[in-house]
Amino acid sequence: MTDTLNQQLGHNLKSLRQARQWSLDKTARETGVSKAMLGQIERGESSPTLATLWRIATGLQTSFSSLVSGAVPHTLMTESAPPDTQSVADASSVEVRTAFPFNPATGFEVMVLTLPPGGESLSEPHDTGVTEHIMVISGTLELLRDGQWHRVTQGESIRFRADQPHGYRNPGSQALVFHDIIHYA
Ligand code: MN
Repeated sequence: MTDTLNQQLGHNLKSLRQARQWSLDKTARETGVSKAMLGQIERGESSPTLATLWRIATGLQTSFSSLVSGAVPHTLMTESAPPDTQSVADASSVEVRTAFPFNPATGFEVMVLTLPPGGESLSEPHDTGVTEHIMVISGTLELLRDGQWHRVTQGESIRFRADQPHGYRNPGSQALVFHDIIHYA
């Protein structure tokens, strides 16, 4: 993300945190992201990874798009071998774009994800009751849920509970594009 987008993200985080009257210490405890990192993000000095953004959104009990609002929608956020990820699997280059930001009336947000051949992205559990509805637009998806990889081909859809560890990977030789409709209970 660019500096401007990082600053928007920092602004969002600070607003969400202050609306809850949470200190940086409290926010670090709730999200599992270090106080130092949170401070850097708030000052617009850091381009956090997708995994970190999800950890923050989940800890704040907010939607992903609320956290990245204005910082992501018109830009592709690319993850390439970020330094603070816990596994190599996260070092793939998944691209995430917000198609429709979180709507409190429906409880939905819609993301478009792109994974190159061989790309893989693992996710920690989201908040209790969060479900994902996946529609494969092009390519082939393998989805990890309940500890197993399930193949979902172009034109197929799958829904799963995302309050468990899950992941996406592209076993094919062409780019994988899928829509991810995330519902917050
Ligand atoms: Mn997810």
